[in-house]
Amino acid sequence: MVTAKTMVTKKITRSGSITLPRQVRQKTGLLPGVPVKMVADQDGIHLSKHVPACFNCGSVDDVKEILGIEICRSCAKKVWRCFDDGGGV
Ligand SMILES: [Zn+2]
Repeated sequence: MVTAKTMVTKKITRSGSITLPRQVRQKTGLLPGVPVKMVADQDGIHLSKHVPACFNCGSVDDVKEILGIEICRSCAKKVWRCFDDGGGV
């Protein structure tokens, strides 16, 4: 949790990238490999860690990404039951 605001100015590269300063990455936990959620609104752009959540029920427990969809085990089982006709995969 960030307790004090950090102000930095960065330029956007030609490809649209911005490097997060080390102090910001360390404060926020946005370290290499961490999925990032980006929300743009009238106040600006907000970055935060992306916490995988089930697209159907919103659960964050036991969630996997399959074919670009984040789904929890419980909902995946419900989907599987629709296709489980005993014929296997
Ligand atoms: Zn679910």
